[in-house]
Amino acid sequence: AKSEGRGTYHFFEAGMDATLQRRRTLETGLRDALANNGLSVVFQPIVSLQTNTVVAAEALMRWDHPQLGPISPVEFIPIAEETGIIHAIGGWILEAAAKAAACWPGHVRVAVNLSPIQFKRPDLIATIRAALKAAGLDASRLELEITESLLLENSQSNLDLLLALRGLGVRVAMDDFGTGYSSLSYLRAFPFDKIKIDRSFMADVATKADSRAILGAMISLGNNLGMTTVAEGVETAEQLAVVRAEGCTQVQGYFFSPPVDGATMLALLEAEKSD
Ligand code: C2E
Ligand code: CA
Ligand code: CA
Ligand code: CA
Repeated sequence: AKSEGRGTYHFFEAGMDATLQRRRTLETGLRDALANNGLSVVFQPIVSLQTNTVVAAEALMRWDHPQLGPISPVEFIPIAEETGIIHAIGGWILEAAAKAAACWPGHVRVAVNLSPIQFKRPDLIATIRAALKAAGLDASRLELEITESLLLENSQSNLDLLLALRGLGVRVAMDDFGTGYSSLSYLRAFPFDKIKIDRSFMADVATKADSRAILGAMISLGNNLGMTTVAEGVETAEQLAVVRAEGCTQVQGYFFSPPVDGATMLALLEAEKSD
């Protein structure tokens, strides 16, 4: 048993090494990618259930590492947050997304994810203002998606920041609604324009009455608070039918479209215009 324990210990150490090494590789790789056009942005259409047309698109970051291949944002965003690189890449995607949206029809908005870390920086408002100006995009066409998190404490300074953002004319959405333990208190404390119901809630809505009841309650809550409600991760016609029947305002998911590159997004919007 003793030798087994020692073996386990060594194995654990080697595992730690590999994790740390990958982390370091990704950290330097991320800095290189930012400096050398290695990052890209894709867009996922968001469809209105009133008009059945695309009313917005979410900008999502992509990174193809020269040796390791595509790295998921689920892996690299946390590293960017821990190392502070998030400020630079967050500013980069904000500008890239605003520039793309400036070429879209005027009624189509672009949504950009904001890390809670970006909130800690006093120059956030100036960064957003600068990105809009550089792109020539009206503030009313930008939505910022913020995930509830421990970092976004229910504090006066965060409230002031959200109010300042809305003062600029941008919309603010609560992302991944329902996944954290403080979603409801955030709704009371912060003036969100929109809630995006996390895709985990979509899983069995077409087959389980309980799941549907929970989804329906979240949609009603948002609607009753005067917010736009978005169902994320709608993959099937059955899920779409449920979401529609429950009164949701907008949907996003593979059923309509996966995230696509900028040229495809533009073509999709052009095709819709001539329908
Ligand atoms: P998110 O903000 O919740 O973005 C939605 C994620 O769900 C995207 O994954 C999208 O590709 C995926 N998705 C969309 N429709 C469906 C569907 O029907 N089924 C399934 N299974 N998935 C669907 P992605 O692009 O891998 O991004 C993952 C997360 O990484 C995002 O979750 C967001 O939290 C973060 N992220 C991505 N880009 C950025 C960024 O530019 N800045 C920040 N701060 N975070 C980002
Ligand atoms: Ca999002
Ligand atoms: Ca989300
Ligand atoms: Ca998420």
